[in-house]
Amino acid sequence: MAKCPVDSRNLDEIKYEGVAVDHCGSCGGVWLDAKELETIQETRIMDFSEALSKPENLVAAAFSMAKSGRERDYQCVRCDAVLIKREYGYASQIQVDVCPEGHGMWLDHGELQALEKFYERMNAEADSEFAALEAEIKSARSREGVLGFLRSFWS
Ligand SMILES: [Zn+2]
Ligand SMILES: [Zn+2]
Repeated sequence: MAKCPVDSRNLDEIKYEGVAVDHCGSCGGVWLDAKELETIQETRIMDFSEALSKPENLVAAAFSMAKSGRERDYQCVRCDAVLIKREYGYASQIQVDVCPEGHGMWLDHGELQALEKFYERMNAEADSEFAALEAEIKSARSREGVLGFLRSFWS
């Protein structure tokens, strides 16, 4: 049974966007296995690098708030390794905790929600900037969801 890296409670399985993920009922954090991200349907990855370079202040604030309250390192739920903070490129201020052995990533309570907001905003910007591709973007979005977006952190 996987244990929460924050409070050592047993994680339970919940469905998120149709994928089983490990969730802590105590602190609300979520563990995503690398293989869980890999099972998300393969779709064309949009180039969101420009959008990622100007994240919504609200989102950045939520992330730094969640990280600043931490008193100790988190451990991978699959091995003994200490999770490392990894910032997505272009100074996005979006940080996820990943296992250096490649087991997956941990999202503190609120981070998944913050990512959802960020992802929605990114899609909205994509709609206005690439109006001609709108239909294609919408169809890619409905297939990918936030988990598909998270895959782009991983790869
Ligand atoms: Zn917990
Ligand atoms: Zn690990």
